[in-house]
Amino acid sequence: MWFRSLAVVLIATIVGVLGYARLSSNRSAVGPARWHADKIVLFTVDTLRAGRLGVYGYDAATTSPHIDAWARDAVVFDRASAPSPWTVPSLAAFFTGRYPSEMAIYTNETGIPSQWATLAEILQGEGYRTAQFNSHSVLLQPEMGFTRGFDEVYPDEYDLAEEGEHKIAFAVPEQEALRWIEENSHDRFFLWVHDMDPHLPYSADNPYLEPDSLPYDAEVRRVDASFGDIVAHLQARGDWDDILFIFTADHGEAFGEHGVQGHQNVMYDEVLNVPLIIDAPMIAEPGRVREPVDLFDVRTTILDLAGIPVEAGTRGESLVQLLEGKERRLQRAMSFHSRYYFEDGHHELAVRDRRWKLLMRTPKSNDRLWSGQPTWDPRGEGVHFELYNLSVDPEELDDVANIYPTVVERLKGALSEWKESLDRPAADAPRLEEQDLQVLRNLGYAPDADRSDNRNQN
Ligand SMILES: [Zn+2]
Repeated sequence: MWFRSLAVVLIATIVGVLGYARLSSNRSAVGPARWHADKIVLFTVDTLRAGRLGVYGYDAATTSPHIDAWARDAVVFDRASAPSPWTVPSLAAFFTGRYPSEMAIYTNETGIPSQWATLAEILQGEGYRTAQFNSHSVLLQPEMGFTRGFDEVYPDEYDLAEEGEHKIAFAVPEQEALRWIEENSHDRFFLWVHDMDPHLPYSADNPYLEPDSLPYDAEVRRVDASFGDIVAHLQARGDWDDILFIFTADHGEAFGEHGVQGHQNVMYDEVLNVPLIIDAPMIAEPGRVREPVDLFDVRTTILDLAGIPVEAGTRGESLVQLLEGKERRLQRAMSFHSRYYFEDGHHELAVRDRRWKLLMRTPKSNDRLWSGQPTWDPRGEGVHFELYNLSVDPEELDDVANIYPTVVERLKGALSEWKESLDRPAADAPRLEEQDLQVLRNLGYAPDADRSDNRNQN
């Protein structure tokens, strides 16, 4: 009997030691209970207002049946905001984890300086296969920096000066994306799809354009169809549960809520709030997150889930714990937004905390944005402020700046400190070539070269 007892003890000890060893090596190898994201899909939509998707409460028309159905199994962020209402500054921040002002990116003409590594460059450097399929022709220009780090870019060449369009029919990039998935996605991969359909001009041959539908809604419905095709394709492959899938937008669109249309001159939340939906199936149960997050947090989250250290000085915070359903507040107490002059000569800055949003508009500026930092000072003369209590007035209809002067002062101070904290922008930020710039100007997409000179005379 004693022999049998000793054997049981010995066996139990050996199993225990082996078990402990296995646990220990697991911990040191992959970190605490962390899933490793080897397959990453980023689907961004240009000019997609969160409030025009069913998942964000839109019920005036059916715009997003595929996105809504997919989102039911994912984590929906209700308060995600973009750092800028412009495509290039917003997506540059997304890809670098830096505020656009830090990189001297003030409008759509200036690209990402080479000193800042993009998300794609980092993932490529870690051995991911990388590809982008894009219908925004400005983002495809090599000097803009968005093609860096991609093994494959489609379309691989787009001559702005010759072709003159800035919106490519998305059906072609979509088909190419499906081909690429077939050929390349058995390995670690990062796939970026950027669909520009909801951006003006709206197309007349959109099959979802009904006689009584709003053209914008029909464009969103077409994005939804492309999204549905790509998701269905991935779901049919058998590794769907291994894919980290992120859906978001660079900015929204205004339809006169504050007397302005479009997005380039709008700093209200119909433009700054963006959809953000993340499906991280191995770590996240479906749900909604109310914590305010910034677009560049997505970059940090992707790197975190890929097990790649995030560079010091980047602005994003990982959303992994929020994805895991933990009650948690991000460390960042405030978010900042910037929009430098376009047509009207005013710079607009905004700062928000969990309750308040302070919007600041400078007097007319004569800055030439590509030759230095724009001049603005929250304590300067003639600066206009609006204050909104987002917790009771999310549509920003009731300016309460006169009622809460101490809040205004506190947030003015935060804007000043934020400006001080920005690194000096690189003097050599790359710009589009002059012939390409002229195409953007003709489209109303970039200010005239001599406009600031005119202003000096007026
Ligand atoms: Zn855009």
